[in-house]
Amino acid sequence: MRVGPAVSAFALGLALNAQTPAQPDWKALEPEMMQQFQAILRFDTRNPPGNEHLVADYLKGVFDKAGIPAQIYALDANRSNVVARLTGNGKKRPILIMGHSDVVTVDESKWKFPPFGATRDGGWVYARGTVDDKDNLTAGLMTMLFLKRFNVPLDRDVIFLSEAGEEGASNFGIGFMVNQHYPAIDAEYCLAEGGGAIRIGGVAKYTTVETLEKIPRGIELVAHGISGHGSIPLKSNAIVHLAGAVARVGQWRPEIRFNETTGSYFRGLAQVASPDVARHYRDVLSTDPKVRAAADDWLLENEPLHSSMLRTSVSPNIFTGGYRSNVIPSEAKATLDVRALPDEDPVKFLEQVKKIVNDPAVDVHFTAQNVRPASAFDARLDSEPYQVLEAAAKRIYDTVTLPTMSTGATDMAQLRARGVQCFGIGAAIDMEDGPKGFGMHSDQERLLESELYRFVRYNYEVVSDLARAR
Ligand SMILES: [Zn+2]
Repeated sequence: MRVGPAVSAFALGLALNAQTPAQPDWKALEPEMMQQFQAILRFDTRNPPGNEHLVADYLKGVFDKAGIPAQIYALDANRSNVVARLTGNGKKRPILIMGHSDVVTVDESKWKFPPFGATRDGGWVYARGTVDDKDNLTAGLMTMLFLKRFNVPLDRDVIFLSEAGEEGASNFGIGFMVNQHYPAIDAEYCLAEGGGAIRIGGVAKYTTVETLEKIPRGIELVAHGISGHGSIPLKSNAIVHLAGAVARVGQWRPEIRFNETTGSYFRGLAQVASPDVARHYRDVLSTDPKVRAAADDWLLENEPLHSSMLRTSVSPNIFTGGYRSNVIPSEAKATLDVRALPDEDPVKFLEQVKKIVNDPAVDVHFTAQNVRPASAFDARLDSEPYQVLEAAAKRIYDTVTLPTMSTGATDMAQLRARGVQCFGIGAAIDMEDGPKGFGMHSDQERLLESELYRFVRYNYEVVSDLARAR
């Protein structure tokens, strides 16, 4: 890192010591990080309707003032995206850092502090978006500002994207950018949401990086029968057939299959978990079917997220049929939420579901609403970014890094489908906070102030390690 001779290191927030490159004086930069975080949190970007232009316009102003070229991209004027770019010498392909500017809706009556107030209380910041995903947005912004301010020479462009519509309207955000403005964000690597250090009892135990995600696919079951008068029960009753089919599918647990990410994850978790819990993580990896089944049962009962990570999961979530108590309906319908392992063969899987349903009166097919593409390129664990992320977690959080497969879908899906290696990161959260009702999408979303600062440093060091000129 070079420091211009005209400006003192102190003014730049740099602490110079004998070794170069100099490290930013992180303590001195904290008020600025907090001010930006609060400014971003205070824009009401609940989606729907979104109004992400509030954040986009604000960020554009910050970049303009800092002398960083930035541009607004919008499919809908109220739902704009911002791309800012620091230009490198072109030796390597760009890195993209992104965060979504929309947040999920709020029930204001349930919030102790106003959801868009960014209130600081007891070392925490309270607001919708503190951990999903205005932490990533703020860290990305700070990284851009600091790289520019400290004149860090770059081997690759660093691109920042503030994207709209992640929470269920990605056609305005990542979909629009990938389909219509791909050259503006085309990169070798991408950092986005989906990971972070996990604290237990106030201490970071491990840091997750999302390297893979499941693919959402809906399956519809439609039972057909003969309609008639409710006073004369019929064997062909569509509701009875559908109920049987749904019950069979609901009881079914598709086979367990590990990939590089989930195998490393469970092995790593077994290293850091308490011995009584670690046993289950080891057992589920066992080749002994009995040992594995017992661990599988335990996970389904106690850690359903981990149970879902083992397999393509199926959850019946909609069940409709009938309209009057004295009419036997001729049709009844159920929708299954299927979250497929990335390597799942959809055609073969549908055949398996048909076998489980095992009823010619029930038609089984995929729904039309499979919105996210399947990943063509998963993030590799032997890649440079993963190693840089591992080293940063060791340095900053003093933890190991575990790769994770998200059971949900993120905006990385569209980029992975284009061949970008994407890594999901985030600020550290307390394992105990979610069950207490403070997690993402909850009625009291919050982040520790100290963890905002730590995450900005992690983000900055990762990006500068990957992009700095050598
Ligand atoms: Zn999110």
